[in-house]
Amino acid sequence: MSVETQKETLGFQTEVKQLLHLMIHSLYSNKEIFLRELISNASDAVDKLRFEALSKPELLEGGAELKIRVSFDKDAKTVTLEDNGIGMSREDAITHLGTIAKSGTADFMKNLSGDQKKDSHLIGQFGVGFYSAFIVADKVEVFSRRAGLDASQGVHWSSKGEGGFEIATIDKADRGTRIVLHLKANEDEFADGYRLRNIIKKYSDHIALPIELPKEQAAAEGEEQPAQEWEVVNRASSLWTRPRTEVKDEEYQEFYKHIAHDYENPLSWSHNKVEGKLEYSSLLYVPARAPFDLYQREAPKGLKLYVQRVFVMDQAESFLPLYLRFIKGVVDSNDLSLNVSREILQKDPIIDSMKSALTKRVLDMLEKLAKNEPEQYKGFWKNFGQVMKEGPAEDFANKEKIAGLLRFASTHEEGGEQVVSLAEYLARAKEGQDKIYYLTGETYAQVKNSPHLEVFRKKGIEVLLLTDRIDEWLMSYLSEFDGKSFVDVARGDLDLGNLDSEEEKKEAEEVAKAKEGLVERIKTALGDAVSEVRVSHRLTDSPAILAIGEQDLGMQMRQILEASGQKVPDSKPIFEFNPAHPLIEKLDGEQSEERFGDLSHILFDQAALAAGDSLKDPAAYVRRLNKLLVELSV
Ligand code: ADP
Repeated sequence: MSVETQKETLGFQTEVKQLLHLMIHSLYSNKEIFLRELISNASDAVDKLRFEALSKPELLEGGAELKIRVSFDKDAKTVTLEDNGIGMSREDAITHLGTIAKSGTADFMKNLSGDQKKDSHLIGQFGVGFYSAFIVADKVEVFSRRAGLDASQGVHWSSKGEGGFEIATIDKADRGTRIVLHLKANEDEFADGYRLRNIIKKYSDHIALPIELPKEQAAAEGEEQPAQEWEVVNRASSLWTRPRTEVKDEEYQEFYKHIAHDYENPLSWSHNKVEGKLEYSSLLYVPARAPFDLYQREAPKGLKLYVQRVFVMDQAESFLPLYLRFIKGVVDSNDLSLNVSREILQKDPIIDSMKSALTKRVLDMLEKLAKNEPEQYKGFWKNFGQVMKEGPAEDFANKEKIAGLLRFASTHEEGGEQVVSLAEYLARAKEGQDKIYYLTGETYAQVKNSPHLEVFRKKGIEVLLLTDRIDEWLMSYLSEFDGKSFVDVARGDLDLGNLDSEEEKKEAEEVAKAKEGLVERIKTALGDAVSEVRVSHRLTDSPAILAIGEQDLGMQMRQILEASGQKVPDSKPIFEFNPAHPLIEKLDGEQSEERFGDLSHILFDQAALAAGDSLKDPAAYVRRLNKLLVELSV
């Protein structure tokens, strides 16, 4: 080893320390994955070199076949990985191996509970990466040089874990990175050719780059040690170029973990080759779990883009719509140019047609999953349902397909789980029912008990219960499914169409006529607070209800707009009362105008409360109610 200069000892960023703490205290029952993670990094580093060398061939420094070598020393208890990829400069090593750049990391770390079992589950969403070296090593050394830098610009990084790391400038003749793991006392089983070969076959067979191990060779007695020979132990071809029938599930799964930086298996995948006017291969995966940063604007999204098998860019976002940002995968095009840029991708019409084909592939894959593995699909929906709900607004062309993938809570299911599809809903619809009924609100408990559902309960009609913040907005983009239109049961003058018999309709008309006087009295009493007063035919148990005007904003939308500081147009509800309710009968017979007014206001406020709305003047409500209570008790 040559001399070390500019030696420094530096501390890790807090988040790195936390991550290391987890690693060191051995979260993993599955320790061997450290090798997969380091090989995955080495392969990424080679991809980067190959790509940068397209425009700067001098980076190859006279060539050398791109590869990864894994070796070991039983006596010294070390495992060494060496790649001739892009390498790191001193600054690179300080930032990449001393901090975590992912957005939202600090927030993520706050969620760690200290309970190893729970945390190991969470950490899977985060991706383990380089620091997993500390699962098996108590000291890790990295020798690296960035391609293109002078041999004197090498870096030696070394750390024993949580304390921090040392960094020095060294001479390194070859570009690339060598990582030396000094194995913990009880982890020396990894310094073994047979063991390493098995781990590589198991996890890294799909890596498109040769991974070499030293060839076992016995030196004859008295002979000099022969020069080391190496042999390739993995398949070393791009997995997506192979025919589907020849790729095993385990290979697809390991490849997913490599590209997605996930440590769990994916839920599903779709591997395709397109030939003809456009030629490309794609391999798309649905993860089993949402990444911790799914809702962060800057979170990585998009596919890995290859052009004729050469890696071109990560997170190519132009191939899928935003609502499918959780999909991971690879697309390898024969039509694009190797020096394609993000800006070009955004404008290229080739990309548009690839995007719509890939989008359809994903939706088909999800349909298949829903059909063949309903339990798995439930899990998918829990993780990604909220994001899928962005779909109808973003992707007009696939609106019906996306609607078919949506899942809702409904009055048909206890407990409020989102499991009902629109197709199922329609299959259960009542004879003559040509609408899809739904109710939106703040919480499941609130909508489940909403007076708006009374008539539906009476008639045995299912109503979808929508309580996600995004739901009202979603429904503004969905007007129909399978030719049946959606109806918000809290909106307008509920028309049950054929679901009401002629008799019921006639009776309702007669009642409405008979109560015209009462309608006028209430209108006068409530004045400005309402836009209309009418007799309700949707109530059985409650005295009154507030309906939203056909064109007015619902409560959720109003709250979202208000929260974002926008001015929301004032809209007044419609007051509907149940003429058969004893309180309304009492109201009808009330002689004192003052008491009539109080009671009307109380009924109005109660209807607002039942809808989960807040009162404009809660003190007035309490005053009026108490006045009545006092009168009652004398
Ligand atoms: P991730 O790979 O998810 O970014 P890691 O913690 O595994 O996170 O690695 C951190 C960074 O260190 C990588 O993004 C890369 O920039 C750098 N790095 C790791 N291993 C290598 C390597 N073998 N060659 C070059 N750079 C590397």
